[in-house]
Amino acid sequence: MFSIKRELKVNNKEKSYLSGCAGYSRFVYNYGLTMIKESWSFAHVKASDSKRLNEIKKIFTNHVKTKPEFSWMNNYSSRIYQNAFMSLNKAFSNWRKGLTSLPKFKKKRHECSFTVDSSNGKVLVKEGKSIKIPTLGTFRLKEAIPFNCISQTFTISQEAGKWYVSFSVDANIIPEMKHNHQRVGIDLGIKTFATLSNGETLITPPSLKPAKLKLSKVQWRNRHKVLGNRKQGIKASNNAIKYYSKLRRKHKYLANIREDFLQKTTTNLAKTYQEIKIEDLNISGMIANHKLAEAISNLGFYRFRELLSYKQEWYGFLLTIVDRWYPSSKTCSFCGHIQNMPLKERIFNCGSCGQIIDRDLNAALKCDSFS
Ligand SMILES: [Zn+2]
Repeated sequence: MFSIKRELKVNNKEKSYLSGCAGYSRFVYNYGLTMIKESWSFAHVKASDSKRLNEIKKIFTNHVKTKPEFSWMNNYSSRIYQNAFMSLNKAFSNWRKGLTSLPKFKKKRHECSFTVDSSNGKVLVKEGKSIKIPTLGTFRLKEAIPFNCISQTFTISQEAGKWYVSFSVDANIIPEMKHNHQRVGIDLGIKTFATLSNGETLITPPSLKPAKLKLSKVQWRNRHKVLGNRKQGIKASNNAIKYYSKLRRKHKYLANIREDFLQKTTTNLAKTYQEIKIEDLNISGMIANHKLAEAISNLGFYRFRELLSYKQEWYGFLLTIVDRWYPSSKTCSFCGHIQNMPLKERIFNCGSCGQIIDRDLNAALKCDSFS
């Protein structure tokens, strides 16, 4: 994890708005601090600082913010006061741990900063000379952000008359600079493991299918073989022991092939694409179909998405999970026409614009255009 700090290019209107935000944050912080100190005088109240702060926040939300004299607070994002409470909570916990002194009131002259975050999780911060800050809007920058990255929390501060934004980047390595930001939509399927919106496909290793088939035949033939039964005092036969250890080795072998395939493909994808969109796996819908559910667990869709998700984070890129109710496979990627698409239908033949396209490719293209 590393952080990026950039100076904002702000006009007078923006300056006074940011000062207002910082004032709001300071007001909330000082309010919380006053209230928690007051609460200590009630000796009978036994609660941790964070519990107290939670109650204080509730009072603030329901009784203070709603007063007409505080209606000015409605001009500012609620993420500002949420973050002010979070930072107060952090200040108290650091003080309790003996890391800092007792939190002090913030003074206008010294503390001109505030924090906002995206309440919907991480956001993509695009490379270039502007930044879109959650809840605040887009600002121009003095110096460009060198690469696309993801972050969730942004602190805006004023130092010596200049305004800065800083945020930490959730990546373990500094990404290589890329000149073209590639993005892609991915559709996972039974026939083709994955179809990318650029037309590429990922196919499960060819050795996997026959090996699986052979294994299930062997398992069926040995379905009565038991590894002894302690309750009935039956010892396992030498043949059974041999069979089960061989079975374990076979399973491990297959699992290794699959894991290797999943690791390689997800690394390649994470390195190539800075923004990946993939459909949420419709678990309940798939479980209704037994054969399908088995195929999905065999293919390792969950593992694929899990690996992709952590690798994207490692490289500091963005993975968007497309809402499972988004009808990517039923919607024409060209004209947006929605039509019924039974699972066995492999070609999307649009009833409206006449586009004829592979079902999975259509879904991948639809995934990529999801926002
Ligand atoms: Zn169409």
